[in-house]
Amino acid sequence: MYEVWEEYFNDIPRKNFVLTKFGKYSKRQLGCIKYASEYTKVKTLLKKYEEDINLQDVNSVSIILLTKYFMSDSVPEFLLISTLSHEICHYAHGFHSPLERKYKYPHKGGVVTKEMQSRGLGEMLNQSEEWLKENWIDIIS
Ligand SMILES: [Zn+2]
Repeated sequence: MYEVWEEYFNDIPRKNFVLTKFGKYSKRQLGCIKYASEYTKVKTLLKKYEEDINLQDVNSVSIILLTKYFMSDSVPEFLLISTLSHEICHYAHGFHSPLERKYKYPHKGGVVTKEMQSRGLGEMLNQSEEWLKENWIDIIS
């Protein structure tokens, strides 16, 4: 995730600690971003990264959860990169992040797609959508 951030989002400040982990086996929602709370079951991780967390400008922790289906070796890297990028766009737009909120709603008007396109991720996004159409059903069944 940090590599993706460096490569495509290096103008976006990471003001708090951002973690990525696999969530549950979600068939429809491939990724999501939320703030760590008592409900996100990351106490052990928060303990592990306590020092890093305290070093950030803001002490909250944002978590990017990826569907556990992504643990499959059949899932291509471009799908992981494009899903992570989608969530980092939300962060950049101020959703579940300490950055200023840029839009009222996270997806309205295709703001995430536009953001990805403007960062040179449009091709990868198309590739991911194509791949999902062809292969996702086999991964989840
Ligand atoms: Zn989204």
